[in-house]
Formats: sequence, structure tokens, C-alpha cells
Amino acid sequence: MHNSKEINSFKMANMAHKTGVYTHPDLEIHETGANHPENRTRIQKILQTLQPILNGHNSVEMVTSFEKMPNNILNLAHDEQYIQRVLDTENQMTDPSSLVYLDPDTCISRGSFQSILSGIHATCQAVSDVVRGNYNNAFCIVRPPGHHATANGSMGFCVFSAISVAAKFALQQDNINKVAIIDFDVHHGNGTEDIMQHDPNVLFTSIHQRDLWPYMHHDNHGPNNNVYNFGLDELADPQEYFNIIHQHIRPLVDTWQPDLILISAGFDAHKNDPPQDTLFNDPPGRQNLMESDFNYITQQIMDMAQLHCNGRIISILEGGYNPDVLASCCLEHVQTLSRAN
Ligand SMILES: [Zn+2]
Repeated sequence: MHNSKEINSFKMANMAHKTGVYTHPDLEIHETGANHPENRTRIQKILQTLQPILNGHNSVEMVTSFEKMPNNILNLAHDEQYIQRVLDTENQMTDPSSLVYLDPDTCISRGSFQSILSGIHATCQAVSDVVRGNYNNAFCIVRPPGHHATANGSMGFCVFSAISVAAKFALQQDNINKVAIIDFDVHHGNGTEDIMQHDPNVLFTSIHQRDLWPYMHHDNHGPNNNVYNFGLDELADPQEYFNIIHQHIRPLVDTWQPDLILISAGFDAHKNDPPQDTLFNDPPGRQNLMESDFNYITQQIMDMAQLHCNGRIISILEGGYNPDVLASCCLEHVQTLSRAN
């Protein structure tokens, strides 16, 4: 007869002490046009920067093989009518080089649907692998971001919500009954909130700049009391981020006792992001975080995961539009995640 502590240490001893880095070659297909801040250079630069730790660093592994995922995986988070509308829009494009805007900020090109779906498959594979103990934690390098996409609409470069699909997919796995999401992108994860407020098994927390697009910050906790938004002023002191983690998010997660933690990892609260946004009228987020601050936040989330769910974290890339800064943030994020191993 084992007590729960012994079972926990048994699980720890049998867990693969590795960080999985997930991406997919199809992600480069999604085209957004010249000078669009969300473009394939973002992930190209990240992969290039991560190469030294992906080659021969035995606690970080690149994952490129995927199981077949259910055909209707997008339906876990999105309405069928909306999914079909995106697919039909793409199928109606006659010129292979054309772009169609789904909303003023978000376009698709020929091949975008499959490209974005491949990223979501990679994310669900990460969930499956971490839940089965093949990896201790995981980082998913996907694009475009997804946390503004709602159940029935695109928004802010986001077509489908990888993190929402991942959360729903996780809840279908054995022994995953409660999921916590922590979103530290500089923008409010309004789409994730839209989808997750209806799921009493998912806690959604978002730290973001308050008076910034999409201007949908609300303090209310939703019909299931599971939505917690924390807004910061422009150029907030990094200590204010840490205070929110310590004083609000940590107690919420401790009460929630999740079986898995998902991170919406946007790095656009970095001091040097974005360099300049020439395409859109909305002012960029202006915050002062540096790589070391993101590392500290990552470490705090890892401590929560260690306490509640054997360290299980799936971190999913959201924003970050200065490719050099984004790549260096991702490198340090992965290195921090791998220090749990
Ligand atoms: Zn953002």
C-alpha cells in the first residue's frame, strides 16, 4: 500500500526528464504579406537561435513526429460554422498568391488552414506526450498566435486558438480533470477567455497591459468564476508583474490544484518589442520586461506546476514581433523549462 507521497515520487522517478520543443514545417506556409509583423521570420529566427541547445543538449529534444489527431480537433474550441467559413474562404481563392482578410488585422493565404491546423496538432501532441510522461514539459513554437481568436471569429492575427484546443484536448486525457492557463502576452487573451469562461474545469488567468488593444479587459470572473484578468499600466515596473504572480495567480492556482498548466507565452511585453508597427494604427504594447524577467515568471510557474502536477507544463507561443528579441526570449524560456529536468 502506497501513500500518495510515495506514489508521487514513483511517478517522478519514472518521468522522462526532458523538455520537448514542438513545431511543424507547415507553419511557414501561412502567408501574411509584406511588412506584416506576424510572419514566418518569427519562427525561423527562433529555430535558428534554438539550434545549439537542440543539437546534443540531452535535456531538450525537438519533436517532429506526430500521431494522427482527430479530424474534428478544432471543434473542441470553435464553432463548426466558423471553421467551415475559414475553409470555404481559402478554397475560394483562385490566385495562389492572394490574401483574404478575415477581419481588419487577420488574413489567410492558400494553405493557411492546413498550416494553422498543423501547429494545433503539434500542440496537442505536446499535451499527449507530457501527460504520458514522455516529456517533463514542452514549448510549442507555432504561428500565428491564437489567444485572440474566439469560438466563432478571428481577431488580431489569430485564426484558431491553439491554447483553447490544447486545454480541451488535455481534459480528454486520463487523469486530467483540471487545467490552469496563465497568459503573460502583453495583450489580453480575450479569445481564450471567450472560450474558457464556459468550461468550469479550466482556470484562465491573464496578465496584460490594461489600456491596449483589444480593449476588452474586465475584472469579472465569468459565469463559472474561472476568469481572472490582471491589467497593468503602460511601462509597469517588472516587480508589478511579479507581485501579480505572487499575490494573485499563485493563490488562485494553489486553490485550483490543476493537473496540467498551460502557458500563453507571448513575449511582446519585452522592453524592445515591437521595433515599429507600421501596418496597424493601434499603438504597440509598451512594457519593460527583459529576458531575465520572463525567466523569473517561467520559474514561478514551474514551481506551481511542481507542487500541483509533477511539473507538467505546455507553453505555447503567442505574440512577440521583434524576431531577434523574440528568439532570445524563447531560447531562455526553453533553457529555464529544461532546468526542471
Ligand atoms: Zn500580444
